[in-house]
Amino acid sequence: PETVERIAAGEVVTRPASVVKELIENSLDAGAESIRVEVDGDGTAMLKVADDGHGMSEADATLAVDHHTTSKLGESSDLERVSTLGFRGEALPSIAAVATLDVTTNDGGPRGTRVLVEGGETTTSPAGRATGTTVEVRDLFHNRPARRKSLSSTQAEFGRVSDVVSRYALLHPDVRFRLRHDGREVFSTPGSGSYTDAVLGVYDRTVAGQSTTFAHETAVSVDGDDHSLTVDGLLVYPSVTRSRRDHVHVAVNGRTVGNAGLKRAVVSGYGTLLPQGREPIAVVSVSLSPQLVDANVHPSKDEVAFLDGDAVESAVEEAVHEAVTTADL
Ligand code: ADP
Ligand code: MG
Repeated sequence: PETVERIAAGEVVTRPASVVKELIENSLDAGAESIRVEVDGDGTAMLKVADDGHGMSEADATLAVDHHTTSKLGESSDLERVSTLGFRGEALPSIAAVATLDVTTNDGGPRGTRVLVEGGETTTSPAGRATGTTVEVRDLFHNRPARRKSLSSTQAEFGRVSDVVSRYALLHPDVRFRLRHDGREVFSTPGSGSYTDAVLGVYDRTVAGQSTTFAHETAVSVDGDDHSLTVDGLLVYPSVTRSRRDHVHVAVNGRTVGNAGLKRAVVSGYGTLLPQGREPIAVVSVSLSPQLVDANVHPSKDEVAFLDGDAVESAVEEAVHEAVTTADL
């Protein structure tokens, strides 16, 4: 159990928001057009993600929760192997190691399947469900008191969940997202494919009311000798007061990332448009040749590294600058 805890705690399952991130990525991988996230309190009692993706067969669903078990990871050489190979295929089992995992899924057949993993026992039964998957996680960290204690307040943990869902909703405007907290709708996006619609959905209550938000959709390509990338997204002006919440949302080759250098590049691209102490709301999706991305960064991580980070950052800054100056914000 200690080995599993080290892996689960260190890699994928650090808090409710990291569980939500993994589940949303699975839903996107399954081709979902609609993703609903529901959270009670800080997320430890109950959180769930429901999608209309392609779903899983009974056999696949049973396999998916069962990739590694406590017995398979008794030795530290196994631990080393897992950490060097990366964490793919281990998110659901890792969640199951520290929570009750309740999966209901249907891959388009006449009936669906429910796979419940509770206290190390897996039970599979038939279930009614339309095509898609619902993953419900209950009693997160019930067997990990130290990790549970390390969590912040309900408000802070839910804030992190909300940030994760916001980021995916903004960077995937073609997917409908809905977030509910304690039975109340927090926000929803229409899945229209428009970045503007997604921004208005996510920020409606928190920011757009502050003043008339000027939203400008942009698609700028930057070509250079040693770099070639496309920047696509939405740059919103006026800016908002800088806060702990992050309003610069960045994806690289379709994956949302938390790269600080890229965010700084976006902010610098606004240049003198941005008053002191303020930051823009920006959704920036960068596409570049996969060869320019360092593939050695752990896939479960929120990070991306570039073979030439300075070149990528200056190209992004240039693209943002070109977009905001020609948009005449
Ligand atoms: P990974 O995503 O790296 O493959 P996970 O543990 O997150 O590993 O998921 C294991 C497998 O379970 C996935 O590869 C996929 O086949 C299946 N799966 C998980 N979530 C979903 C979902 N929402 N819809 C369809 N299949 C899913
Ligand atoms: Mg996954």
